[in-house]
Amino acid sequence: MTTTPPLIEDLARKFSTKLLLKHELNLSEHRFQYLIDQNYLQEVDGIRSTLNFHECNRCFNKNQSLFGKIPQHARAPITYCKKCIQMGRVSTKESLYRWTGTHPMRHKVMNPLKWKGILTPLQEKASQKMVEAVNNQSKLLIYAVCGAGKTEMLYAGIQEAIKQNKRVCVATPRADVVRELAPRLRRDFPTIHSSALYGGSTERDQNNHLVIATTHQLLRYENSFDLMIVDEVDAFPYHRDKTLPKAVTRASKPNSTQIYLTATPRRSHKLQIATKQIPTVSIPSRYHGHPIPTPTFQAVLRLNDKLEKGVLPPKITQWIKEKQTTNRRFLLFAPTIQLAEKLAEKLNMPYVHAESPDREYLIKQFRARAFQSLITTTILERGVTFPSIDVAVIQADHHVFDEAALIQIAGRAGRSASDPTGDVTFFYEYKTNAMIQARNYTILKNKEAKRCNI
Ligand SMILES: [Zn+2]
Repeated sequence: MTTTPPLIEDLARKFSTKLLLKHELNLSEHRFQYLIDQNYLQEVDGIRSTLNFHECNRCFNKNQSLFGKIPQHARAPITYCKKCIQMGRVSTKESLYRWTGTHPMRHKVMNPLKWKGILTPLQEKASQKMVEAVNNQSKLLIYAVCGAGKTEMLYAGIQEAIKQNKRVCVATPRADVVRELAPRLRRDFPTIHSSALYGGSTERDQNNHLVIATTHQLLRYENSFDLMIVDEVDAFPYHRDKTLPKAVTRASKPNSTQIYLTATPRRSHKLQIATKQIPTVSIPSRYHGHPIPTPTFQAVLRLNDKLEKGVLPPKITQWIKEKQTTNRRFLLFAPTIQLAEKLAEKLNMPYVHAESPDREYLIKQFRARAFQSLITTTILERGVTFPSIDVAVIQADHHVFDEAALIQIAGRAGRSASDPTGDVTFFYEYKTNAMIQARNYTILKNKEAKRCNI
């Protein structure tokens, strides 16, 4: 027989607690058939269909307009899900496969955490609450301002889970955040097995201790994680796409611990906090104890017209010149790819947006101080940390800059303990509520932090 027990163990590590397409299994036809015949693999319908109603078993899509038909099968058409097509096609003829063999073991690691830093008293409080949540298999929301040092607050909880041989997932809606978090977690937990999963990553999870993934990647999992940490829970697309919270729930084991992190809770979480539906720990202070920079408002007459015509108003050029002459590094946020491109051309600066092919490279280069400034759309609004930078938002009154986005953008400045202040400037034509709320948030959090005597 070709399928020996060590091989079964190997396959279990690859497939256990996942829902995968046949091509993702990457097996020879002979081996695939053997695993089906021996009940190691169970076939699950890709699409659940009744009369004219379809539901995708991978991404939970029920929106009928997001199902397509394959035309060459007009008499008995094949229905496929458009919503999750980027992860490979699921259809009425393309099933998912679940591992039903025994689940693989992981080796125990008793002291995986090698980080030797010291937490502030507020960080310590959140850290202890998280350890309790891990032990009680309960939920916790950590409401911490940008720059509070959220990642380090998670370390004791992750360590506790790994010591108990639990499987941990740190999920986030944004791939850039996965790329930022993964090296830090690997540096501080060097002896455990981990994988970083996002669209385009080449790493594979083989029942590792720790998975760092975009929330989209969790659509390939079920009953997999004992500790599920969702970072940036208010970020796009997680807060808009109702299927992603379902993916998080399905990827978690029934008795799992759920930790949610946010600096800018959306209305639903604010309501849960206010009505005490979810235990919450609030951290209004940055780890270095200095206040969050308050945004400066700079009104520019006919800003939108000028930008449309490719004219940069003097207030903006002066701001840039001042940074260049004082050798301050800075990020310029633009609301659209078109404006980012225009600014880049005019100012002769690099720029990044969601579809930039060299985005990862440019972010790395900026981090390595290869250039002084970077133009970006909202893709760099959160989750990425560059020490000692100033920030300007061009057209801060544009609708893409909602309250949360502006708070997050302002939160990029003053992150470093050795340079804790920073300039945050909003250039706008018409003042918006989002701008006012973002400034009020900063003032309120700084007051709260002061009351905590930090
Ligand atoms: Zn789907």
